[in-house]
Amino acid sequence: MSTVLSVNNIAKNYSAVRALKGVSFDVPKGTVFGILGPNGSGKTTLLGIVMSILRPSGGSYRIFGEAPTGEQRKRMGTLLETPNFYHYLTAVQNLRIAASIKGRGENDIDRVLELVNLSERKHSRFSTYSLGMKQRLAIASCLLGDPEVLVFDEPTNGLDPVGIAEIRSLIKRLHQEGKTIIMASHLLDEVEKVCTHVAILKKGDLLTHGDVNEVLANEDIVELGAADLNKLKQILQQLQGYSSIKAENGLVQLYYPLGKADMEAINRHCFSHDVVLQSLQLKKKSLEAKFFELTN
Ligand code: ATP
Repeated sequence: MSTVLSVNNIAKNYSAVRALKGVSFDVPKGTVFGILGPNGSGKTTLLGIVMSILRPSGGSYRIFGEAPTGEQRKRMGTLLETPNFYHYLTAVQNLRIAASIKGRGENDIDRVLELVNLSERKHSRFSTYSLGMKQRLAIASCLLGDPEVLVFDEPTNGLDPVGIAEIRSLIKRLHQEGKTIIMASHLLDEVEKVCTHVAILKKGDLLTHGDVNEVLANEDIVELGAADLNKLKQILQQLQGYSSIKAENGLVQLYYPLGKADMEAINRHCFSHDVVLQSLQLKKKSLEAKFFELTN
């Protein structure tokens, strides 16, 4: 898989504040790459650097395998903050202005409005748009000229659940079309739903990065339910090989080192001790649980 963006030991200091402390990772082509981290961890600074808005204090990065140039940047569409569209102009008029400023996508306006599902309202004034529609118009502006890579900073910021779901399905559609999407977000649940890869930052350090499944799958979690939860927990404690046991929300969870949970043996053990299971499931860790484990 070829690499769209390669970040190598990037550092950024704002006077005494060390916003990035030597961050390195690759973004493979065709992925949805989520950059996560608590407030102030350096996400926006990192995106600002790779879009040449900020100068790094150290390190380097490559776009499509080469030192960044204006031409390569044209292959990337960016939404770092909600653009200032003119309130009294329509979507089409605003996109004409955006296309002429960017020098790309003059003939692309109908296509991008269709993609973000705004064709029916393309002649409405921007001021009549909902927040979700405004954000979709901002994404339409990024799509002008059909860039291969899209860079979004907090694309669902301030949106209600419907607006968030619209952006999620739009990101999925763009991914299916073969775009690479790099996005910073706070919304772990959202990131888990759309991202194929993640990088987790904390106070300027990169804590982990890679394929979401690999980042999350460092242990087996077996979740069990039975009518008598106390008895279930009691008999499970006789088992060997697990690293911890928890009971919450009417279920017992057994944590095993990756690949060590033997579901059949667990089921047989319960049955032979007169506990009939109501549920038995092998689960992966949620991104939220992993995030708090790493950042706390
Ligand atoms: P958030 O999720 O809150 O947007 P973030 O992860 O995007 O945060 P950054 O905005 O990149 O983080 O900030 C990283 C650190 O750099 C923070 O400590 C922030 O206060 C500091 N910082 C960012 N911009 C500047 C600046 N222009 N001058 C001084 N310090 C700055």
